[in-house]
Amino acid sequence: MGTIQPYLRQRALQTPEVEAVVGGKERFTYREFHERVNQLAHHLLRLGVEKGDRVGILCKNNHPYPTILFATILVGAVAVPLNWRLTAYEVAGIVENAEPKALFYDEEFAEALRLVKERGSVDHLVPVGVGLEMTEPFAAIFAEYPTTEPPVVDLAEDDLAFMLFTSGTTGLPKGCMIAHGGIDAYFRNNQFRYAVQPGTRFLAVHPLFHMSSTMMMVMNVANGITMVFLTDDRPAAILDMIEQEKINGMFAFPAVYRYLLEEWKRGRWDLSSLQFVSSGGTHVPASLIKDYLRQGLPMAQGYGSTEAWAISGWNPTMGLDKAESVGKPATEVEVNIVDPDTGAALPPGQVGEIVVTSPYLFQGYWRNPEATAQVLRDGWCYTGDAGYFDEDGFLYVASRYKDVIVYGGDNVYPGEIEEVIHQMPDVLEVAVVGAPHEVMGEAPRAYVVKKPDTPLTEADVIRRCRERLAAYKVPEVVFVDELPKNGLGKIMKQVLKEEARQKA
Ligand code: ATP
Repeated sequence: MGTIQPYLRQRALQTPEVEAVVGGKERFTYREFHERVNQLAHHLLRLGVEKGDRVGILCKNNHPYPTILFATILVGAVAVPLNWRLTAYEVAGIVENAEPKALFYDEEFAEALRLVKERGSVDHLVPVGVGLEMTEPFAAIFAEYPTTEPPVVDLAEDDLAFMLFTSGTTGLPKGCMIAHGGIDAYFRNNQFRYAVQPGTRFLAVHPLFHMSSTMMMVMNVANGITMVFLTDDRPAAILDMIEQEKINGMFAFPAVYRYLLEEWKRGRWDLSSLQFVSSGGTHVPASLIKDYLRQGLPMAQGYGSTEAWAISGWNPTMGLDKAESVGKPATEVEVNIVDPDTGAALPPGQVGEIVVTSPYLFQGYWRNPEATAQVLRDGWCYTGDAGYFDEDGFLYVASRYKDVIVYGGDNVYPGEIEEVIHQMPDVLEVAVVGAPHEVMGEAPRAYVVKKPDTPLTEADVIRRCRERLAAYKVPEVVFVDELPKNGLGKIMKQVLKEEARQKA
């Protein structure tokens, strides 16, 4: 294992004239991008940022983001991407917890900045963007410093590269400490799934503060891929961008792909440049994968978490009959299914907790040894996910443990019901949760978002479920206009559960 510190220098040497970043009105080749990263690293050194210091990034998707990320890594500091979809109060709390030496921010997050200043937890505040423009102080950095490499701080594999706060679908965000060695090992062991070459164009749709985007930024530099940053995430704007920038690949959450497809069918975009799309971060319905394949686009999916990094992946070469699985474990990842009560290993077909060991695991939660001890035990990461292997070694995620519905004594896994409902062409999104039940304790209830202007009724959904599921799994169905989502766009099931409890 090594570090990811030399990745950008090597890349700039290999493919200096390939475009590295495209965002707003600007575009930079790998040579230029490398130079800018060096300039910003000089600036960080002048601010007194040292090895191990945290550097916070509270910025929207645009080219300064990877510039700040890689400059931070160059000086041996720890990049802390911050979720700007949280409230100003939540952001200020995370910043106070992370205690960054410097915080880069976009002007629109003025309220969070006000709170950060009030708490006095950061030494240097650096404004970066105003809308799509760079602020004067940020632009000035690239005129002031030499483009040559700043003194490289020696790093070892167990030094931290990132601190990523979980998005908090299950509670307060916790800072996952990610070391260089694990990420370097991951990129050495797991070559990019598709044949990419320098200059392959990737659209960064997903917010850059999420773990999968951090992974994407490092991966793109390692492979010489051009990162195009999306500045407007409405479906039509995404499709415009794919057409204009001749995008070859992208990553997004499943719901984004669902809305994108609806829009795509309505308009006249030339998307012939697009060769692959990938998804993950939450359950990816097999019906979505099949719908994209019908459009001629292979969709892959990855299963992972901020704590375990990459766990497994599925792509169409593994067979459509396995599209409901999350594929097979990544190289050097060992996955076990264990009984959550006894810890005993379970055979294929039996649902238990998914536990993972690999060189890519996080180092623990920042300043939270109790939470770390719950999740990291004897070198294994306890994911809190319920899942199983089939006889062919494919892994399935049934649910998060806390979302499992206990109907009388039987466990009902929401994912199975969601998959059936997702297969109905008039359904856009669905989330199944446990609603209080007088006799059985709790019973499944499906919150469904249907396509506008379709005649689909609750009875249609129930009929379909009756055809395909055991009677005790057939949910009550409630149509809603939208599902509650967290900062990242993940469905917040506890909000639905609470609503179900109140309406019981
Ligand atoms: P918190 O840990 O606070 O709930 P979070 O949901 O944002 O926050 P992440 O690390 O982003 O945390 O998400 C990891 C979880 O997302 C996994 O444990 C799993 O439950 C779910 N997940 C990720 N990828 C997939 C996938 N391909 N299929 C099903 N579930 C997935």
